[in-house]
Amino acid sequence: LLSASWHDDLNSMATPASPLSAPHEVTEEALLRGIEHEEFVMYYQPKVSCDTGALAGFEALVRWQCPGKGIVMPDSFIPLAERTGLIAPLTEQIISQSLDWLSASFANASPLLSINLSAKSLNHLDIADHFADHCAHYDILPSRLILEVTETCAMTDATVALAALTRLRLKGFNLSIDDFGVGYSSLAQLARLPFSELKIDKMFVSSASNSKESRMIVKGIVGLAHGLGLRVTAEGVEDECTLDFLRDVECDLAQGYFIGKPMDTAAVTSWMALTYGTAIN
Ligand code: C2E
Ligand code: MG
Ligand code: MG
Ligand code: MG
Repeated sequence: LLSASWHDDLNSMATPASPLSAPHEVTEEALLRGIEHEEFVMYYQPKVSCDTGALAGFEALVRWQCPGKGIVMPDSFIPLAERTGLIAPLTEQIISQSLDWLSASFANASPLLSINLSAKSLNHLDIADHFADHCAHYDILPSRLILEVTETCAMTDATVALAALTRLRLKGFNLSIDDFGVGYSSLAQLARLPFSELKIDKMFVSSASNSKESRMIVKGIVGLAHGLGLRVTAEGVEDECTLDFLRDVECDLAQGYFIGKPMDTAAVTSWMALTYGTAIN
């Protein structure tokens, strides 16, 4: 399923990795080995309706089970993967594993699955066809997926990125603006892009309970997004009073430690049983 231009990416890994400031010393060689040995595991974090608590979907978040190091978090290796071009083969494994889980666990059920997309992936116009092929392979409709791109990446004026996003939308994928509020986008830019969801950055959400300013920002973003026809997810919901506040300002969906942490597949099964009293098949 690896398309030609993604192979090109792999073959042109010319950029040398710069020194690391990450908490774990991750080298390009180690990352390549990890990919070859398929050491990456997907965790899934639930998203629920602020209003009813009903399950809306999950976000797939990658972790590296690195022998001798334990679990390495994505902030320690995604930037390196992006700089070196290793993000392409890594994303292949992320998508396969996520779709495999979705089709096995929720064959006919409704929860949507959100997958994070690196800005680098949007340099390839054929990404839409490529992702559609993956979906066909797992018998999953593109409309069951939400592809998250960060605000900063979505707002670059790159024509190719815009075209790639449009093609994905035309194939039926849902698109989401991640980490909204920390970048620099204008309302005009926002309205022009084919997104259906906006995720408020956790910086504002996790501080909402003790900062009036954060509450005003969250409330303002919800109003703005609704005005543009976007559904809003607040990420970083860490306590009940924040969830109550989000319901008051009519935020649509909530995601965060208070609702559920990112979990491996076994933990998701237990969480579903505990929270909703339902088994997943
Ligand atoms: P993100 O997409 O904004 O993901 C949300 C991050 O917030 C996750 O961190 C999640 O574990 C964390 N989080 C969730 N709830 C709470 C909460 O209540 N409080 C706090 N403080 N944090 C919360 P994580 O898993 O470490 O991922 C970090 C970033 O790495 C992600 O940010 C995303 O940009 C990137 N990433 C993760 N998985 C992937 C992937 O599969 N592909 C790509 N390209 N990037 C990924
Ligand atoms: Mg995300
Ligand atoms: Mg985010
Ligand atoms: Mg983030």
